[in-house]
Amino acid sequence: MRVVLLLALLAGCSRKDGAPEPPPKPTATVSSASVSPPPVATPNTFLGEGAPTFVVGTQGDEAADRIVRHQARLVQGMFFPASTLVEDTTVVPGKGVDAWPRRPVVYGGPHVHAALAALAPTLPFQLERGKLVLGGETFVGDDLMLITVLPARAADADGPGFPRMLIYAGTGDPGVAEINAVPHGQHAILVADRFGVLTTGAWTRRAGKVVAALEPRAPREAFRTTERAFHGGKLRFSSLASEPASKDEEPYVEACVRGLDRVVERLSLDGAPTIDVFLYPDSATKAKLTGNGGAGHAVPSSHTLHVIRFDPKKGGALEGLIAHEGTHVIATAAWGAPGSAAMGEGLAVWVSGRYAGVELEKWRAKLGAPPKLADLLGKGFFARKEAETYPASGLLVDRAIASVGLVKFRAHLYGATAGEWAEACAAAGDPALAKD
Ligand SMILES: [Zn+2]
Repeated sequence: MRVVLLLALLAGCSRKDGAPEPPPKPTATVSSASVSPPPVATPNTFLGEGAPTFVVGTQGDEAADRIVRHQARLVQGMFFPASTLVEDTTVVPGKGVDAWPRRPVVYGGPHVHAALAALAPTLPFQLERGKLVLGGETFVGDDLMLITVLPARAADADGPGFPRMLIYAGTGDPGVAEINAVPHGQHAILVADRFGVLTTGAWTRRAGKVVAALEPRAPREAFRTTERAFHGGKLRFSSLASEPASKDEEPYVEACVRGLDRVVERLSLDGAPTIDVFLYPDSATKAKLTGNGGAGHAVPSSHTLHVIRFDPKKGGALEGLIAHEGTHVIATAAWGAPGSAAMGEGLAVWVSGRYAGVELEKWRAKLGAPPKLADLLGKGFFARKEAETYPASGLLVDRAIASVGLVKFRAHLYGATAGEWAEACAAAGDPALAKD
């Protein structure tokens, strides 16, 4: 019974860990004849109005720009294949509202986005590396994420106007990796940190100016942190300060180091960023402090992993879980976001070598009728059981890497969206990968 329970928990690496939230469902629009006040614009209503235009920041370094672009492409490829994606430099904000494409969805804060930077003096928030000032409050840290539908602004003496836009921005560098995995959609303003939603709010007008009215911040626990090196990177291992410090912690730290080593080795990387691992005693505590009670989840924008205290033995559950979740963070930092959830989860399963405690090879027989390729690569991924999609994706990645090698997998397949898959397989040298 205990084994079954453990396997069930390990399978609970929910899609929130490495895949975008499906975009919100369109809500009913209010007819012009209606007497009710217009609804507050939220990501839900904004995306329900029609195909957006993705406007990606290109002002970071090469790696940051790749992460911004890949994140927008991931969402575009899975949910809005008919939409357009343009770079920030194609918008000239000084020209006003007409300079912007229809329904702009902006990826990247002013520190990595030229158009947002140009508007900075007129924005009702201030966002830079390590800091967000919003609604009279200052939030400090490189793990903050802001998701907001910014109201349209008319031109005035302070600067040009701009249309209503949906913004995904972070205080990190660039701070938007997997930002769509943050549960959101219902609030005009949402601020999250590495632990989850920190506050929500709405835009209001005060003395003619648009200002944010925010809810009180969610409380955050104190942690005790120790540092250790792994292949090419640094691990910051944190456990709850409220729990007594103990030498028994060492095996858990070592399991994390082994798991992260495995990611760097399997992906043939030279190095990795500093990784924060937060260890929780049980699912209930993890759920209370992060909003996610699954066995583990990753927050790639801040290089953070949250995991439950599983068996730390060599080759055991914790090591495998860290290898899986660590792949989401380290691969995204090195390669950018995957082109589909299947590539993200498949790579994580391939690196860890297991899914739900069962070796990947054994899943070939267990799966019976695996999902169709089109389902796996598109939004059908979310309609099927994780116990099918994750191992099937792992097997697809395994077959692809065995066939074309890791270098070509990374260059052509990892970032390919569903629509690009057949062409990417041909470019990688194995067109047969595009067949079920
Ligand atoms: Zn995962």
